[in-house]
Amino acid sequence: MGFSNTGLMPSLLQAVAAQGYSEPTPIQSAAIPVILSGEDLMAGAQTGTGKTAAFALPILQLLSSDAASGQPRALVLAPTRELAQQVYRSFVAYGKQCDLRAALVYGGASINSQLSALADGVDILVATPGRLLDLIGRGAVELSQIRHLVFDEADRMLDMGFIDEIRRILKQVPEQRQTLLFSATFDPAIFDLSKTLLKEPKLIEVDARNTTAALVEQMVYAVDADRKRELISYLIGSKNWHQVLIFTRTRQGADELASEMCKDGLKTQAIHGDKSQGARERGLEAFRSGEIRALVATDVAARGLDIDQLQYVVNYELPYNNEDYIHRIGRTGRAGGSGLAISLVSPAEEYLLEEIETMIDRKLPQQWLPGFEPDPSKPVNTPRKSSPGAQKKRARDRALGKSGKPGGRSGGRNRRRR
Ligand code: AMP
Repeated sequence: MGFSNTGLMPSLLQAVAAQGYSEPTPIQSAAIPVILSGEDLMAGAQTGTGKTAAFALPILQLLSSDAASGQPRALVLAPTRELAQQVYRSFVAYGKQCDLRAALVYGGASINSQLSALADGVDILVATPGRLLDLIGRGAVELSQIRHLVFDEADRMLDMGFIDEIRRILKQVPEQRQTLLFSATFDPAIFDLSKTLLKEPKLIEVDARNTTAALVEQMVYAVDADRKRELISYLIGSKNWHQVLIFTRTRQGADELASEMCKDGLKTQAIHGDKSQGARERGLEAFRSGEIRALVATDVAARGLDIDQLQYVVNYELPYNNEDYIHRIGRTGRAGGSGLAISLVSPAEEYLLEEIETMIDRKLPQQWLPGFEPDPSKPVNTPRKSSPGAQKKRARDRALGKSGKPGGRSGGRNRRRR
């Protein structure tokens, strides 16, 4: 079905055509009519599915037929500045022909330009929670006119500990409103939050819960931890890959890897939370334009990165939080393109792989690259997770030898060649 069947008005149909979108994605086909009808919505859609347009387009339409007040009438909350920027850019791009003003506020950047943007009057506000509260505290914005409230990547907001901020923001927002909650994954915490936020929501899931993007090929290379850097440089060089997004668990790890890869002759930069906003944006721009070949990022820094036709994502280290795996590989295979997600798994990380496989309910094809086979005589130091809850306990139990084998998987590493 084309966009004309979604109920969007002609100026928005022109806007999507100008973006080169010929068909709505499944989340857009399902969500746009529901949002236009004014109902609450809980949508399971990971990044790359077109979810931003799925809420931005109908909100632009609803606001166009409603009188402006100078104060925001739509509020989109996003966990990170990168995601907030991406959402804001989408509103601006799709709303070119609408007489509506959008503003973007996020932490880690000067508040003055944000104050003056708000003073000019705004219809759509895209915000990270902390900075929004700061601005409310200064009397720079008020939320009493909000008609549409969107939680983008709600699972991530909870993971990042924003629940208190969310509660404080909710106190400022009218009861009478439309609420839309988008989340890549659903777990009990999300359902709990949804009960307090949404009224008789329509539930839309474009993929089965917790599944990985369908067009992303997932591969696992078993390799010793101390040979990962050599292996990744070899893969990028020998296969002539460009625009490779690489994930590490720590900021320091990201910096070290980027500098080592530069020594290998591969232009690489790192982005993470210790870098200034300007440095992160410059790194991203260099990556987008192809000036650098690889970008090393931590999970938080990579949220919201929207890079067209990103083909390669590498998990240099597996994430402690399983759901980050889905978010990471969702950076590739976007909006119908194909992608390759490679995980470099050391023997000590095998239990993390096992947990990911349980979550996505499939085994991942594994291989050893000749010359990089794991050395069975090396000791295995299983890392401990720092994330809360059951995962942490399982990791601790393993490390203490209370359950499972060192390295985690039954059959041990020798069964891994397939
Ligand atoms: P999102 O899931 O919102 O992060 O969107 C992922 C990417 O899909 C973005 O680069 C959008 O520009 C693109 N996109 C959104 N809707 C469509 C569509 N209907 N057809 C093609 N690309 C789209």
